[in-house]
Amino acid sequence: MGAYPIGDAICRFNPLYGQGMTVASKEAYLLHGMLASRASEHDPLEGLGRAFLAEATPLIETPWMMAAIPDFVFPETRGERPVDLKERLRFAGALSRVAARDAAVQRLVIEVWHMLRPRNAYQDPMNLDELRALLRRRCDEAGSVRAWALKHGVSPVYVGHVLAGKRGAGKALLDALGLVRVIRYTEKK
Ligand SMILES: Cc1cc2nc3c(=O)[nH]c(=O)nc-3n(C[C@H](O)[C@H](O)[C@H](O)COP(=O)(O)OP(=O)(O)OC[C@H]3O[C@@H](n4cnc5c(N)ncnc54)[C@H](O)[C@@H]3O)c2cc1C
Repeated sequence: MGAYPIGDAICRFNPLYGQGMTVASKEAYLLHGMLASRASEHDPLEGLGRAFLAEATPLIETPWMMAAIPDFVFPETRGERPVDLKERLRFAGALSRVAARDAAVQRLVIEVWHMLRPRNAYQDPMNLDELRALLRRRCDEAGSVRAWALKHGVSPVYVGHVLAGKRGAGKALLDALGLVRVIRYTEKK
């Protein structure tokens, strides 16, 4: 029948980051669901181990990255350093700085830390409503739409139009917000 590894037997995390029990619980929940969905099959355990490990891997990816990447700051940490380690550390530093002054970003960081959302949520492009909400927060922080617009060398009327949904966000405004436009593709319906 075989034995399946779970929890620390699959992957042990640095306890400093407090993730091991959460991951073990998520894996137990995953295994429970997989067993339930196979219950009516002739041999529910056939191929279960391999399928379970395949589905458990993405659960581990986020906490592993969050724990292993900062640990690589220390030269004595053993293991294979990602080639883009410097960029990742810079990204983490920039994210902390933005989170310190933007409640929505702080919330996202907490959700990722508590494994409510995957790490790639940081790369999710914003939609137009989220962009407007960010622009609104920035203007509120600056004191007014006019104050923010003048600080960043864009027309207050233009910013007002973007906020009202009358115009799209151009390069100058995206630069001021620290954003870039990305293109995505999807299948035809
Ligand atoms: C100091 C420290 C602090 C931590 N803090 C946190 C935290 O804040 N948050 C968090 O989420 N995680 C934390 N963790 C990690 C967490 O404790 C583990 O990830 C979690 O307990 C793993 O669960 P597990 O069931 O895989 O293993 P375990 O909890 O280790 O369970 C394995 C069990 O198997 C038993 N066993 C071993 N060998 C045999 C055998 N031959 N026969 C029978 N039984 C056996 C052991 O006695 C044990 O009871 C911390 C870990 C440490 C060490």
